[in-house]
Amino acid sequence: MIDKLANSNLKLGIISGGQLGKMLIQEASKWAIATYVLDPDPDCPAKRIATEHVQGDFLDFDTVYAFGKEVDILTYEMENINIEALLQLKADGFKIVPDPQVLALIQDKGLQKEFYQKHNIPTSPFACYENTDAITKAIEEKVFTYPFVQKLRKGGYDGHGVALIHSAEDRLLDGSSMLEKKVEIDKEIAVIVARNDLGEVRCFPTVEMTFDAKTNLVEDLFCPANISGEDVKIAEDLAIKIIENLEMVGLLAVEFFIDLNGEILVNEVAPRPHNSGHHTIESVMTSQLEQMLRAILGLPLGSTNLIMPSVMLNLLGEAGHTGEVRYEGLSEVLSIEGVKVHLYGKHQTRPSRKMGHVTVLADTVENAFEKADKVKNIIKVKSWEK
Ligand code: ADP
Repeated sequence: MIDKLANSNLKLGIISGGQLGKMLIQEASKWAIATYVLDPDPDCPAKRIATEHVQGDFLDFDTVYAFGKEVDILTYEMENINIEALLQLKADGFKIVPDPQVLALIQDKGLQKEFYQKHNIPTSPFACYENTDAITKAIEEKVFTYPFVQKLRKGGYDGHGVALIHSAEDRLLDGSSMLEKKVEIDKEIAVIVARNDLGEVRCFPTVEMTFDAKTNLVEDLFCPANISGEDVKIAEDLAIKIIENLEMVGLLAVEFFIDLNGEILVNEVAPRPHNSGHHTIESVMTSQLEQMLRAILGLPLGSTNLIMPSVMLNLLGEAGHTGEVRYEGLSEVLSIEGVKVHLYGKHQTRPSRKMGHVTVLADTVENAFEKADKVKNIIKVKSWEK
């Protein structure tokens, strides 16, 4: 692999071509890596900059298998992939990093929780049920009690497939599910950790999420998190424990809750680059994408020292705007020092669609927030029709 890299001859396959894939390609191009992207969307963000875009379905066995056998190393930037094809590629001697076995475990929220339990990793109490009848029965028999959070075991993303259930009035989701006790959340934080095949591990600085008081959706992320040094150490040690117990090579994003008693609980993990690491592109010595490449290619891991505190805002499609995108306020925000705008290249906007992000750098998180508030009021993702 290193020889091919040194000869500018390395073919990296990426499933799929969303914004994380696009950002990974931007880093890979620094090292002249040829990038092949599998994505069904003819207009996917990575298309414009990938060496080659293969249009195809990542849930289809034959498509994934055919794609994987043409590249030197195959990786992924999302979880919902045909796992059988990855396992077959591995069995046939092709290189897939992170290992498909790790993805199979993480793809299933029930198996993920069992893994935490087995390795004494703090997480909220849980149980798995096949369908809504089994859940209703467990509630009637008081095996599980309200309030709880229902999560579909497979296929959920960005809050889809997650429902907060307070009482019998709330509608249960249909499908095989993992139920967990509702945590009284004080803060949500995340740590991204990388590990290479020499067993070297390195954590990125902890980030903290802020929430919209009305919708309770994640609004911004800031780094470093506003938590004690001891809590940073607990979160980092847990992230390292998870990646080591998974024996995983690559990048792992670990999301945590800090509850009202100050207890740090693991929520979930993702074996790929993550939204909570967007800021690393400008605010950390090595970005999450470069670190991922280093890890999967067997190179030494880079420094994760913070260059500057930051706030990251998602650029979401405005309510009431659907159609050809039009960004409002671009030149005005770019006149503010330390404002870094990322546009994903999606041509069509719709309400709440992730269209880009902005990282705001400053000497302190407070000052970054001050600028970020201005940015929020200026930049808008609208459509031409309105
Ligand atoms: P996704 O994979 O879709 O991001 P998460 O498991 O992160 O799903 O859940 C989405 C959000 O729902 C979390 O960020 C958190 O705010 C809330 N949530 C999830 N699990 C719990 C829980 N056990 N208790 C309270 N809130 C939760």
